[in-house]
Amino acid sequence: MTRSITILGATGSVGASTLDLIRRNCDEWRVVALTANCSAIELAKLAREFGAEIAVVGDESCLGELREALAGSGIEAAGGAKALCEAASRPVDITVGAIVGCAGLGPVMAAIEQGGTIALANKEALVSAGEVMTAAVEKHGATLLPVDSEHNAIFQCLQGGKIEDVRWITLTASGGPLRTWSQEQLENTTPAQAVAHPNWDMGAKISVDSATMMNKGLEFIEAHHLFPVGLDRLRIVVHPQSVIHSMVEYRDGSTLAQLGPSDMRVPIASCLAWPERMDTPCEPLDLPKIGELTFFEPDEERFPATRLAREAVQHGGAAPAILNAANEVAVAAFLAGHLPFTRIALTVEAILQESNMPPPPVSLDDVLDVDQAARARARAMLEVA
Ligand code: NDP
Repeated sequence: MTRSITILGATGSVGASTLDLIRRNCDEWRVVALTANCSAIELAKLAREFGAEIAVVGDESCLGELREALAGSGIEAAGGAKALCEAASRPVDITVGAIVGCAGLGPVMAAIEQGGTIALANKEALVSAGEVMTAAVEKHGATLLPVDSEHNAIFQCLQGGKIEDVRWITLTASGGPLRTWSQEQLENTTPAQAVAHPNWDMGAKISVDSATMMNKGLEFIEAHHLFPVGLDRLRIVVHPQSVIHSMVEYRDGSTLAQLGPSDMRVPIASCLAWPERMDTPCEPLDLPKIGELTFFEPDEERFPATRLAREAVQHGGAAPAILNAANEVAVAAFLAGHLPFTRIALTVEAILQESNMPPPPVSLDDVLDVDQAARARARAMLEVA
């Protein structure tokens, strides 16, 4: 029996890992929609290879190139934000949400509104829309499966357990490539150094987030929405080997952990096959070779992002969306060479502090308004376009 799938963000790192698994089992899958932002040639190549129904670019100015690259294939081509949502709302068995940033929110919400199963990698969407998204999941009877390796680990550790029996959820953090750097070194970090993650091969934005630890801050907020144990039962532990992907401690003192290689195909496969299991080509863990697993408290002096995220989610309402938007603008400015590394978190903090906090968003449009306003303030502060 074949299953149908849509991949939002098919040309990215999570998109490529997902398609690698589909390629190995292509008789079992029917690809409905594949999307990108502007990588039209790559997208067309994938759409042809997988026989997609439709290929969509978020950036409408790239639609001409996409149409040309798909000429004669019979595959529909579309462009723009509305077209992304239209493609995401086509009924499928599973949608993989792998667009980077809040740009993925509209399409993910469109998939949720169909009441389907969404394997969510796009953490910024859940961080920004929080209660709006979880309410939509409930209203439409959708199923949200976490792709993020930490949340996927927690999800697996909770199988067979009761959320009310949980004492702690521990998110592990590799600490990123700059974990042991001095403040002075951090100030002079280049984009190439920040994206050189020691364990994971990921897109540029999440790699910078890992280096600042904002990735763990976003994941803290994501965990709060996915696993409602209360903020005081969520904690972060630095674990540089990235072997334990997260842990759940129950009230009887038992701690369940999920271990695996640092390969996103493992959590993606867990979502694609859920509630069953499927094969992956990933190397099995070689624990004697790894030898040692170590753990540290996060250093919020050098890496204040986890504190900022915790404060934002404690504040609630619009604060997480503002945090996320300011971070997206600051990371883009850093990657473009316009902002020193250590000013990423400082910018986020300044935008959160200067914001006259808008009322808590209650709809998708409210979230997008908060996001746009925070972006505009961050851009003005950094004097970037
Ligand atoms: P990439 O940068 O590698 O890929 C992003 C994808 O989103 C690309 O297909 C890109 O298209 C598309 N995209 C970017 N901007 C837009 C836009 N404005 N509108 C529509 N599509 C857009 O990111 P990753 O795969 O690394 O990450 C994707 C998401 O998954 C992020 O939220 C990240 O935090 C999360 N995640 C990633 C992990 C990883 O290992 N990479 C691990 C856990 C979570 P184009 O190619 O045209 O730019």
